[in-house]
Amino acid sequence: MAQTPGEVLGWIKDQDIQMIDLKFIDMPGTWQHLTVYQDQIDESSFTDGVPFDGSSIRGWKAINESDMTMVLDPTTAWIDPFMEEPTLSVICSIKEPRTGEWYSRCPRVIAQKAIDYLSSTGIGDTAFFGPEAEFFVFEDVRFDQTESQGFYYVDTAEGRWNSGRVEEGGNKGYKPRYKEGYFPVSPTDTLQDIRSEMLLTMKKCGVPIEKHHHEVATGGQCELGFRFGKLVEAADWLMTYKYCIKNVGKKHGKTVTFMPKPVFNDNGSGMHTHQSVWKDGQPLFAGDQYAGLSQMALWYIGGILKHAPALLAFTNPTTNSYKRLVPGFEAPVNLAYSQGNRSASVRIPLSGTNPKAKRLEFRCPDATSNPYLAFAAMLCAGIDGIKNQIDPGEPLDVDIYDLSPEELAKIPSTPGSLEDALSKLETDHEFLTTGGVFTDDFIGNWINYKLDNEVNPMRLRPHPYEFSLYYDC
Ligand code: GLN
Ligand code: MG
Ligand code: MG
Ligand code: MG
Repeated sequence: MAQTPGEVLGWIKDQDIQMIDLKFIDMPGTWQHLTVYQDQIDESSFTDGVPFDGSSIRGWKAINESDMTMVLDPTTAWIDPFMEEPTLSVICSIKEPRTGEWYSRCPRVIAQKAIDYLSSTGIGDTAFFGPEAEFFVFEDVRFDQTESQGFYYVDTAEGRWNSGRVEEGGNKGYKPRYKEGYFPVSPTDTLQDIRSEMLLTMKKCGVPIEKHHHEVATGGQCELGFRFGKLVEAADWLMTYKYCIKNVGKKHGKTVTFMPKPVFNDNGSGMHTHQSVWKDGQPLFAGDQYAGLSQMALWYIGGILKHAPALLAFTNPTTNSYKRLVPGFEAPVNLAYSQGNRSASVRIPLSGTNPKAKRLEFRCPDATSNPYLAFAAMLCAGIDGIKNQIDPGEPLDVDIYDLSPEELAKIPSTPGSLEDALSKLETDHEFLTTGGVFTDDFIGNWINYKLDNEVNPMRLRPHPYEFSLYYDC
C-alpha cells in the first residue's frame, strides 16, 4: 500500500491509472464518491483537497455555503475491483476551503480528533478497534413504496419468504434449522463461495482479512472477519468491508443488508466492537483485576456503561436497531459486563496469556452506525471513565435466567428506542464535547436529523402489522 502522496502519484503513472475515485463518508454513514480524471490529482490534492459542492450531502451544508474540498489520504489508495476502467480509489476527509480548517461535521475528521484527544490526555496514544459486522444475504428484496403501507418482504438465500412467515419455494431439504445457521457445512451452507470471494476481494483493497462463516439466523446470515486496526484505519476498513460485501453480492444477483433486524423472530445482525488502548507500543488493558483486565480497562468499561444510553444514539442509530436489542437472540440487553455472559453488553473475551490480546468487546453496536462516529464516541466514553475513575460495579456472571425479577430489575437495560437514546444524548453529551471531539453543533444536528428523517417519519406511518392487528376491528 502507498504511504505518501508521491507514492500514490507514482502509482497512477506506473499502473496507467485513468480515473481516481474519491470516496468520503456522509453524516449517517454511507460512502459518497466523485470520480476525476487522473490529471486532476497532484500534490495539493493531499493538502488543500479537490473542490466539490457539499450542499446536497445529508446533514451537511446549507446551499449558500456549499463549497468544500475533499482531501485525499494517501494511505487509503487501492485499485477499485468493481470498476471496469483502471480506477484508483482513495478515501478522503473534508476541509472548509475558506478557512482551510477540517470540517467539524466530517465524521472522519471527528474520528481523528478522538485520537488526538486520547493523546492530549496522556492516557494513551493509540486505540485499536475490531468490529464484527454481521449481515444477511438475500435473493431478493421488494419494497412496496406506497406512502401508507411501505410493506416489504425478503427472499432468503435458502428460498424462504420471510416477513410474512410464509414458507414456500426453495429446496428445504438442506435449509438450516431455526437458529442453527452457526454453522453446518454445505450443502446446508449455500454461501461458502460467495463469502470467500467477498473476503478475497477485500484483501485486494488492503484489508487484513482473517476468516468468514455463516451466522446463527436461518436466512443467509453471515460474518466475515478482518484484523483489528487503529481507530480511523478500522473505520476505513469497515467501510471497505461493506462496499466489497454488497458489490460481490450484487455481482452474483443477490442483495445484502446490514439492517440490525431484517427478519422477525430470528437473530439480528450486530457489530460487536473489540477495543483496547495502548501507549508507546504497550497495551494498557491487561492487568491483575477481574478477567485479567487492568484497573484502567475497568474504568474504561465504567465509562462505556455509564454513557451507554446516550452512546447508543451513535452505535445503534436507527429505529430498526432497537428491534435487535431484545432478549432471546444473543443481542445484549443488560448494561453490565462479564467474561462469559453474552447477554451483558460488555464481554471480556478469553485472550490467552498475551497481554497484547487483552481487550473488551462492546456488543451493542450494529452496522447501521457510522463507524467513525461510533468508534470516536466509544473512545470518548472510555476516556471519561478513565479520567473520572468510574467504577463499573460487579460483573454480571450469573445466568440472568436464574435471577429473581427484583434482582433483574436492578440491572439497567439498553434504551428501548432510537427516540429514547436520542433524548439521553440530549442530556448526556459532555463526555463527547469536552475534548473537542464532537461539537455541540454536530450533536444538535445529529439529534434533529434523526428525529426529522427517521423517528418521526416512522412514527407517522401505519405499520404493516397494524393492519393485521386492527384492520378488522
Ligand atoms: N447476532 C448476534 C447479535 O445480534 C450475535 C451472534 C454472535 O456473534 N454470537 O449480536
Ligand atoms: Mg464474531
Ligand atoms: Mg457473530
Ligand atoms: Mg463477537
